[in-house]
Amino acid sequence: MTKDIATPVRTKEILNKFGFSFKKSLGQNFLIDTNVLRNIVDSANIGDTSGVIEVGPGIGALTEQLAKKAKQVVSFEIDQRLLPVLEETLAPYSNVKIIHSDVLKANIQETIDENFKDIDDLMVVANLPYYVTTPILMKLLEEKLPIRGIVVMIQAEVADRIAAKPGSKDYGALSIAAQYYAQAEKVMTVPATVFVPQPRVDSAVLRLTIREKPAVEVQDEAYFFQVFHASFANRRKTILNNLVHNLGPKEKKDDILEALVEAEIDPVRRGETLSLEEFARLSDSLLKRLK
Ligand code: SAM
Repeated sequence: MTKDIATPVRTKEILNKFGFSFKKSLGQNFLIDTNVLRNIVDSANIGDTSGVIEVGPGIGALTEQLAKKAKQVVSFEIDQRLLPVLEETLAPYSNVKIIHSDVLKANIQETIDENFKDIDDLMVVANLPYYVTTPILMKLLEEKLPIRGIVVMIQAEVADRIAAKPGSKDYGALSIAAQYYAQAEKVMTVPATVFVPQPRVDSAVLRLTIREKPAVEVQDEAYFFQVFHASFANRRKTILNNLVHNLGPKEKKDDILEALVEAEIDPVRRGETLSLEEFARLSDSLLKRLK
């Protein structure tokens, strides 16, 4: 039996054999600890009827552990140099398909329709490239894909922001955006020593469990997102000033003030203290006046 890919020795052998050099610009930090990988897979609660979408397989460290548990794994890898590597390292697993593509440009729904026809339990699991963590997570959430959840290794600081509660120092637009679609929890923190090369930041595993319906009901979802982006545009400004300057129009200040009063939100509060429910109320009462 071959050794797991994610050991320091085997990883080094593979990298040497293919003369692979890491590209920092692609966020290439590979996992070399099988225990951490098993924890990630366990957190996703994957069984032999599950399908998994992976972003960035690298040399296949996580992909291999997923393939051992899941029915089918489909992984998006942007770096062409990794394709021959993956072909060799994942050769023992017939339930893995690699798609050479930038996940941000990929049509994920179409990929699901084509590859997971008989599968109704679908998870996204990945050790994400840190330079594009937020756009990848937002794409996965906003596209309302038929997935149960997302388990990802990301920067610890970003995991804290996504899972933050209103009023805490980490709470912001990202917390609201993610928590609107999913329940968020930080599963564990991970030291830099389990990667090669070691990232300069701490890492954490985040689990997002997709809600059956969004956390709050709003009349106009696109407008709701406009309202909270405007509310966070300048963290030092009050909610009233942020809305006047970033949602506008400025001459409608009185209407904005009225909407805040109707939504029972003190105009001198800051965006980061508002709960999802308060944002929903605010969005609906602004909609009546400004649109
Ligand atoms: N899964 C591997 C592991 O855990 O060892 C590698 C994880 S590494 C942090 C991130 C991977 O994502 C790299 O293989 C990188 O080439 C790939 N990647 C970077 N940007 C990407 C993108 N936009 N779309 C798809 N893959 C990407």
